Amino acid sequence: MTLSRRAAIGAAATLYAAPTLLHARHAAAQASAPPVVGPAFHRFEVGALKVTVVTDGSNVRPNATQGLVVNATPEQVGSAMSAAGLPGPAMRNPYNVTFVETPRGLVALDVGTGGAGGPGTGALQDNMRAAGLDPARVLLIAHTHFHGDHIGGLTSNDGAALFPQAMVVVPEREWAFWTDAGEESRATEARRPGFANVRRRFAPYLDRMTRFAPDAEVAPGIRAVATNGHSPGHTSFLIADGTAQALVIGDAITAPAFFMVNPDWCPVFDMDPAMAVDTRKRLLDRAATERMPVVGYHFDMPATGRVERAGTGYRLVPGAA
Ligand SMILES: [Zn+2]
Repeated sequence: MTLSRRAAIGAAATLYAAPTLLHARHAAAQASAPPVVGPAFHRFEVGALKVTVVTDGSNVRPNATQGLVVNATPEQVGSAMSAAGLPGPAMRNPYNVTFVETPRGLVALDVGTGGAGGPGTGALQDNMRAAGLDPARVLLIAHTHFHGDHIGGLTSNDGAALFPQAMVVVPEREWAFWTDAGEESRATEARRPGFANVRRRFAPYLDRMTRFAPDAEVAPGIRAVATNGHSPGHTSFLIADGTAQALVIGDAITAPAFFMVNPDWCPVFDMDPAMAVDTRKRLLDRAATERMPVVGYHFDMPATGRVERAGTGYRLVPGAA
C-alpha cells in the first residue's frame, strides 16, 4: 500500500481501467431483512453524477438524554429533543450509505453495519438491490473512518468479502491509528475491541487496499476532506461536478437536533472532542456559506439537507438535495 495522493488516484484509475480483478465468491445474502423505517433509498444528482443514499436500517437508543452527549445535562438534551419535535427520550439512530455512479464505476462511501447495530440493521445489500445497485458492481469503497457501524458491512459473519469486485481506499491517518499496537494497548476497554474488528473486517481486502492522503481525489468527482476528531483520521467526501457539489460528512455531525443546533456538544463517540468541535464548526460554516447539500450517515432518511444558521448554532433543512 502507498501513502501519496498521486498513488491513491493512480490506484483508483487502475481499478477502473482494469475491471478484471475478480474475486469469485459472491456476496452471501444477509440472513433476513429487518424492517425499514422510511424509504430504503434516496436518489439525487450532483451535476451529472447520480448519487443514491441507501439505508442499512436503524436501531433505537432507549434514552438519548443519558450518556450520549457528554457535555450537556439530561435536561438540556431533553429540551433539544422537544425543540426538534422529537418525543423522546428514545431516539432512532439510522445508518445510511452513499453511493456515487462515477463515469468509471460505482463507488460506495462506507458499507453499513453488517448487522452489528442489532436486529433493525444489516439491510444494506437488500436495499441496494431494491435501488438497482448490485453489490458486485461496486468497484471502489472509500471509508470515512473505522468505527464498527461503518466497516461491518465489508464481510459476512464468516469473514467473506461482501463486495467481491471492490478496491478499498482508507484515510492514511485512520489506518495508522487502528493498526498501531501501542494505540491498541493504551485503548480503553470500551474501544479496544474496535482494533480486532478492523483486522477482521479488512482481512479479505488486504491485497486490494490503498491509503489516501487527507485531500486526495479518491475517484473521479470525489475528493477527501479531512474532518478529524470523531476519529483520528475521520474524513468527509466532497462530490463535485462543475459548480454542483454535495458533502458526505460521515460522523462529523451525527444527530442534527443535537450537534447542528449545538456544535459544541460532543457525542460520547467523538475520540478527540476538542478537535471534533473545531471540525464541526468549520464544516457547518462552510456548508451554510456555500449553501452546499450535506449527507449524514446518521441523519434520518432521506439523509440529505442544507445547513442554515439558526440562533447560536445551525439547523438542517432536510431533503434539499
Ligand atoms: Zn457512525
